[in-house]
Amino acid sequence: MDCIFCKIASGTIPAKKAYEDDLCLAFHDLNPQAPTHLLVVPRQHLISLAHATPQHAALLGHLLQVTAQLAGALGLSKGFRAVLNSGADGGQTVDHLHVHLLGGRAMHWPPG
Ligand code: AMP
Ligand code: ZN
Repeated sequence: MDCIFCKIASGTIPAKKAYEDDLCLAFHDLNPQAPTHLLVVPRQHLISLAHATPQHAALLGHLLQVTAQLAGALGLSKGFRAVLNSGADGGQTVDHLHVHLLGGRAMHWPPG
């Protein structure tokens, strides 16, 4: 499958990995939007949040728990933002679900 995050998950293309387990991995974004910008990605190819079914509930919970765990490990004690872009209007550019973990600066609202 021609999916960049599946290739990172399988090790076919490199990434600066910060965490991995049986279900997911986390690596640094190539084009960081904050001092800390990681992507938490399921090993399983799931296109987006819009494609999630009840069978994905435990996996989605795990991705969020890992995101929080990483924020703690990375010292983001003042806070952080977790973002899931979904579909064209959501700003999704890679069609393999991922959680953005952004921190190290104050975030703004509303997002762009
Ligand atoms: P999104 O726009 O929400 O789909 O986010 C995709 C993210 O993947 C963007 O922030 C990109 O900078 C990032 N990205 C794309 N290719 C790579 C790569 N090979 N390694 C790390 N991050 C990547
Ligand atoms: Zn994929």
